[in-house]
Amino acid sequence: MTVKMDNRLSPGKNDERGFAIWLTGLSGAGKTTISIPLGKRLIEMGFRVQILDGDVVRKKLTRDLGFTKEDRDKNIERVTFVAELMVRHGIIVICAFISPYKAERRYAREEIGRFTEVFVKCPLDVCESRDVKGLYAKARAGEIKHFTGIDDPYEIPENPEIVVDTSMMTLDDEVDKIIDYVQKYGYIKET
Ligand code: ADP
Repeated sequence: MTVKMDNRLSPGKNDERGFAIWLTGLSGAGKTTISIPLGKRLIEMGFRVQILDGDVVRKKLTRDLGFTKEDRDKNIERVTFVAELMVRHGIIVICAFISPYKAERRYAREEIGRFTEVFVKCPLDVCESRDVKGLYAKARAGEIKHFTGIDDPYEIPENPEIVVDTSMMTLDDEVDKIIDYVQKYGYIKET
């Protein structure tokens, strides 16, 4: 274990059990749905886990922000700051954010370091037909502006460590695929 001292909130120990699983994808693709059983599985395996979910974070930490590119970038930058601190203290942080811009995902990766990007892939028409939160209907009606996939871009990940296609796979298989990857690449020891 190395001690990392810098000018952040607390010096802390660099506990190498921590890492981030970053779920990116359209609204309704399945990020929140995957994060919960994924977190449970990791807790059952004995790890400390924290989920940072866009919908929750935006009601608290970043409630002052909207959905312009500038505000989306600030949202990811603040979340990255918090995630990095938790990762450093040995926590597995599951981040569930649309995070539509490549540059911001790259920023999160570089800041956090121990980082696995999961593209939660799902065609727009499937997300729209699910319309879990009724937001696509509102976006189509022009009641919501800057809605990803409708009048705001989503930049598809080019080299994510993992792709789960939620229009083709079962939830169990998606969680298994993520657990298998983090075991295989040594983030967690095989059980
Ligand atoms: P997001 O967090 O990406 O906005 P949600 O998890 O809130 O998306 O919503 C995804 C919706 O898709 C849920 O209603 C979920 O039950 C549904 N769904 C259907 N099949 C799958 C699957 N294979 N994996 C994940 N979600 C799925």
